[in-house]
Amino acid sequence: MRSPFTKEQLDLLYGNAEDLIFFMRKAEDDYVYEYVNDRCNSTFEQELVGTTVDDSMPASVAEEIKKQYRIAESIDGVHRYRDYNLFSKKKAANETEVTKISFEGQLYLLAISRNVSKQKKVEEDYLFYQSLVQNSVDPMIMISSDFMVIGMNPAYESVFGVLKQQWIGKSFMALPSNSEKFLNKVISVLGKEEFGKGSSSFITSPKTSESENGKFSVSFSPVKIGEDIRAYQIVFRELTDEVQLKEELKKTENVLDSYKDALNYAAMVTIWEPAGTILFANDNFKGTTGYEKDELLGMQISVIGRAVIPDAFYDSIRDIIFRGTIWRGEMKSLKKNGDFFWVDTTIIPLKNEEGIIYQVLAIMFDITDRKQLEEKLHFMAYHDSLTQLPNRRLMMQEFELLERDADEQDSLIALLYIDGDDFKSINDNFGHNIGDEFIACFGQALTKSIRSGDMAARIGGDEFVIAAAGINPKKSGMQIKNLINRIHEKLAVGWTIEGHYFSPTASVGIAFYPKDANNFEDLVKMADSALYESKKAGRNQVRFYRNEEDSTH
Ligand code: GH3
Ligand code: MG
Repeated sequence: MRSPFTKEQLDLLYGNAEDLIFFMRKAEDDYVYEYVNDRCNSTFEQELVGTTVDDSMPASVAEEIKKQYRIAESIDGVHRYRDYNLFSKKKAANETEVTKISFEGQLYLLAISRNVSKQKKVEEDYLFYQSLVQNSVDPMIMISSDFMVIGMNPAYESVFGVLKQQWIGKSFMALPSNSEKFLNKVISVLGKEEFGKGSSSFITSPKTSESENGKFSVSFSPVKIGEDIRAYQIVFRELTDEVQLKEELKKTENVLDSYKDALNYAAMVTIWEPAGTILFANDNFKGTTGYEKDELLGMQISVIGRAVIPDAFYDSIRDIIFRGTIWRGEMKSLKKNGDFFWVDTTIIPLKNEEGIIYQVLAIMFDITDRKQLEEKLHFMAYHDSLTQLPNRRLMMQEFELLERDADEQDSLIALLYIDGDDFKSINDNFGHNIGDEFIACFGQALTKSIRSGDMAARIGGDEFVIAAAGINPKKSGMQIKNLINRIHEKLAVGWTIEGHYFSPTASVGIAFYPKDANNFEDLVKMADSALYESKKAGRNQVRFYRNEEDSTH
């Protein structure tokens, strides 16, 4: 059978070709190799000429090849097929062109297989890149070197509110999202000599479709062919969250710094070990306590804190702290020079990751002035301003304590109601200023007459009350007599005001707790009625309260 081409002719054409060349004659349902070039022989490592596809190829490959050849037979022109799939693991990739040749009633096929592995890689890379671009949440736009829009991804369309199909081929400069400032920056970045060696970026706030002032980092990558830049890929990455976070952090840092400064300015701060050894003290703490830094460090906090407060209170604070809880309260403390100072204190146990207290932090505000004012106000509320003696309110409160003691000890309390005799004449003769001073001296005289457990109070103009506690029922007469004598003595000694000597007398009415009444109010009434009797008896007298029953005896 005569072949359309001689071996010499085919060798001349394809002998040195890089591609695989197969020239075949159709034989029944197979194809006989009439010519293959050297490349085929070395690739398949066997002599193909004279064999068929079925003879020389593995069955599955042979089936696929024959299927393609049959397609080539059935169509006009060249049949081209690939023996690979994109992204398949197979490294080699071939593209085959099959041409059918009819010669003298016989069908021949010329198959030229080209190795397209490189092309496959390019196609794969391109598809991969395309997919990244299309699916990216970051807006991306590709522009030509003369700033015409070549492409944009869906993210770009949605973020900047533009349509790809309307902008392809149009000027990038005209995009509504590009402010003049932004474009100037773009031109300056792209105009830089070093641009093109890599990507460049800056931060911008373009107009987005949501019109929020979002921040984006925008980066530019050159698309080169050889050394020439043909296009630019521009990628926007929204930074809003990161930038906001950074700004928030910055703000927080500033706030913390301000707190620290404010704290150091306004408060005393000290830190000690759980055992009480001071580790840190700020300037305010040093200033207020009067200790030097060297003295404070290593000193026990209890020297300042424990010295002037009751043990039970101090221990209860310790218990709270070492339970891991913050304690807040007011506390009296001791300065180096022995003076007190008052602090509003917050004590915070500092715990490590395992929850173990490793240090204790105290933040203290000096409230000494406030405390002194409070003490003054308290004193004013419970004392008489002229004589500085307790007033009726304090006497009433304290009397309850005396009552309790008296009940426990089965003792009596004598309540003496004392009213100055003829005090009005002092005012009349010497004026009110001397009258005031006179009443103050009278109060002092009464105070000096009583024992330490007793109490004297001014409850009206020239009316005073003495509560003498611990009176033994069996010796009450003697004890009261002694007290009255002391009062008489003090008044008899008298006092001098602005050169005027006074030695007044007083009338006294007496009632006993619990004998005559079991509460302060009633007792005062009883003593008052006794006082009335002593006034009636001519002043400078002492009378005991007597009820109806007593008086019948
Ligand atoms: P009597 O012996 O009846 O008690 O006569 P008295 O003048 O003391 O009169 P009374 O106890 O009824 O009144 C008390 C007088 O003491 C009234 C007032 O002239 C004088 N007095 C009371 N409180 C004050 C005071 O705070 N200042 C001055 N300057 N005088 C007072
Ligand atoms: Mg009087």
